[in-house]
Amino acid sequence: MEGIRVYSHSACLSKDNGDGHPERKERLESILESIHSIVDLTIDLKEAPIAKCSDINLVHPQSYLDDIFSMIPDQGLIGVEKEPYADTLLCPNSKEAILRSCGAGISASKDLMDGNLKRFFCAVRPPGHHAETTRVNGFCFINNAAVAARYLQFNYDIKKVAIIDFDVHHGNGTQEIFYNDKTVLYGSIHQHPLFPGTGLESETGVGNIFNAPIESGTSSKEFLKIFNEKILVNVDDFKPEVIIISAGFDAHKRDSLATINLESEDYFTMTQDIVEIAKRHSKGRIISFLEGGYDLLALSESIKSHFMGLSV
Ligand SMILES: [Zn+2]
Repeated sequence: MEGIRVYSHSACLSKDNGDGHPERKERLESILESIHSIVDLTIDLKEAPIAKCSDINLVHPQSYLDDIFSMIPDQGLIGVEKEPYADTLLCPNSKEAILRSCGAGISASKDLMDGNLKRFFCAVRPPGHHAETTRVNGFCFINNAAVAARYLQFNYDIKKVAIIDFDVHHGNGTQEIFYNDKTVLYGSIHQHPLFPGTGLESETGVGNIFNAPIESGTSSKEFLKIFNEKILVNVDDFKPEVIIISAGFDAHKRDSLATINLESEDYFTMTQDIVEIAKRHSKGRIISFLEGGYDLLALSESIKSHFMGLSV
């Protein structure tokens, strides 16, 4: 049974989006509390460092970062996106939360390549998968998973990385970043139509993008079948050297931002299936990032299932 290293930081709890916002610190509190309660796995928790801009620049240009950080208010909140997406907000503590969320993935990448551990989870917020090369979107500023993929390719002898995204929303940012890059496979299952509206099956990049849009009301059984047939089969064919997971838990039946009917245990099944592929092609190497998921009980249960799957 594999141990799991978790990167997180208290700064990720101080990212404030105001009252009534779904992307709130209680999400991460619920996840960390649940992780602490797992007694039958070896889990070590480490502080996520601040990411260096030179590493983030592997994905996002410095001018983009400067623009974001120049908008951070001294007090209160400021909306970064235009209507109708005015709910991507910066608060006074945003910079550290954003940089540590990205730093978590960079440290996990280093540990993965330099040490003996094979499974990592980045318990961070803000999330990343909607952030495009030069566009803030959907509560996301830096694409944490994309930076980790590029960091691995740039600093180590890693050529092929697969990013598997089971958040209920399409990761338009990750798709945009790698749309013309055969070295990175991006596979996403997501409710459609739903924010951000992208992720049609016809969006295939250079043969490296695999989208599985699913209808509102999709059952657990049907979801898992589509996930296997449209995403995992292609990841298996790709033979990635490292697998990154964009782990959102908002396809859970309790989540109020979507209408898919996954049970908490389904995250065990999906994760276990990913681990099997990682063992076959990737020396078991997996880095998972928290993306969405907005129901606290669903998060608490689903993260346990995800960890049990990661430890297989
Ligand atoms: Zn989501």
